[in-house]
Amino acid sequence: MKLRLALISLVVLAGTNRVYCSEPSQGADRPNIVFIFSDDHSIQTIGAYNARLSQFCREQGITPNIDRLAATGGLFVNSFCGNSLCSPSRASVLTGLHSHANGVMTLDQPIKAGLWTFPNSLRQAGYQTAVIGKWHLDKTIPEYADWQLLPGQGDYLNPVFISKSGREKHTGYVTDITTDLALDWLKLRDASRPFFLAIHHKAPHRNWVPPLRYATWLDDVAVPEPATLFDDYTNRASPARFQEMNIGKDMTMASDLKVGNTFAANPLYAARNADFAAKTPMGDDLTRWKYQQYLKDYLRCVKAVDDGVGRVLDALSSAGLEKNTIVIYSSDQGFYMGEHGWFDKRWIYEESLHMPFIIRWPGVVQAGTRFGPFVQNIDYAPTFMDMAGGQIPDGLHGRSIVPILRGETPADWRKSVYYHYYDDNGAHNVVKHYGVRTDRYTLAYYYTTEEWEMFDNEQDPEQLRSVYADSAYAKTLAELKIELGRLRRLYQDSDGTRD
Ligand code: CA
Repeated sequence: MKLRLALISLVVLAGTNRVYCSEPSQGADRPNIVFIFSDDHSIQTIGAYNARLSQFCREQGITPNIDRLAATGGLFVNSFCGNSLCSPSRASVLTGLHSHANGVMTLDQPIKAGLWTFPNSLRQAGYQTAVIGKWHLDKTIPEYADWQLLPGQGDYLNPVFISKSGREKHTGYVTDITTDLALDWLKLRDASRPFFLAIHHKAPHRNWVPPLRYATWLDDVAVPEPATLFDDYTNRASPARFQEMNIGKDMTMASDLKVGNTFAANPLYAARNADFAAKTPMGDDLTRWKYQQYLKDYLRCVKAVDDGVGRVLDALSSAGLEKNTIVIYSSDQGFYMGEHGWFDKRWIYEESLHMPFIIRWPGVVQAGTRFGPFVQNIDYAPTFMDMAGGQIPDGLHGRSIVPILRGETPADWRKSVYYHYYDDNGAHNVVKHYGVRTDRYTLAYYYTTEEWEMFDNEQDPEQLRSVYADSAYAKTLAELKIELGRLRRLYQDSDGTRD
């Protein structure tokens, strides 16, 4: 009987192809992992996603290297965050837990003391670990062995990096320097051990300063406008009307758009200042003008990130590491590219709920796969541990997506994702809300104003009409409320007044 059980165990292990190592020195063939994580990069501006600006991005060559990664690997269509904000998303990535459980619900909270995070366990499993770039969890010490980080948000131009040896100011553009430092680390690592290298780009976070080489690139094209650029926020609950992330109303001429005397002679901004002086747009024309400048600066920043992705892919290839290195491209949340008239993130609505997730894993992920299962940032930590053959601790909210990558999606894989946003004291005046997103519907509860919204994303993909009070949806609404309650019990989230 014992022998039979042992045989079954062996078969199970072989079937899932997991490598369990008691000694870190074993398993030298374990994969390396390069995790490229940018800040505020929307799926709309990635060519490989069939999202609003994807075709434009392909035509203009904005993300050719990220698209190459997707073409030689796979892309998750339904990849979501659980709280659409920088620090909370990063904390969920590190801990495998939703915000209420890891303690980082807003921008300035640390991860709860003593919580498990994946970099430490990867180290214990024998991996060399490094993180380069933006951290934005200022009170949380990195558990990576090596780190070179931007303090706070970091600067786009001539940024300071901090490391164990102190502060150092670098000359140049932050995205390029982040990639330089990552590739330097790659060269100097111990080649006898597997590695996990996190490359955390600051870009394309506000205030969208592009590199000089792309200063006037895209000047002569018009970025397609969203149909909802002049959304009036009717047919929904009240919070959408009171936000402060409207391009026309809230995007600043100086800091965001670099229009004014101090910028007129700057080679990055001289052309737009001349254009503004010649047109002096007003009203809706001004909103349209701002939209073009915003999108172009954002896309120029994205283009530089994409250059960095290309350099990393080329470096892996020339070092002979391509076959045994998993490369992931993701970003901490989605972003509004003028949809609903907005910039920024925060909402459970589609554009900010989505996170890009693209992965190349030679020999495991079939080239060109578009994965449908729902994945969330809480899945990253257990996934990394699974890839490395390490132990996944009990009690995480997320699950390893490795079975999905192998084409063996578990029958009990989640069919919905839970969302909870808390930062109503921060910028942009978005009130707290929690909710659920299923394959077709979004249900949100704004508990401080006691209002609900429900969207039929199939009939209304732009989410312009809440069907919460529509009797035709009464049965579906009841099911969604049951599902939301189930998720809140599953994750033990009792914050917010009632289910
Ligand atoms: Ca962010």
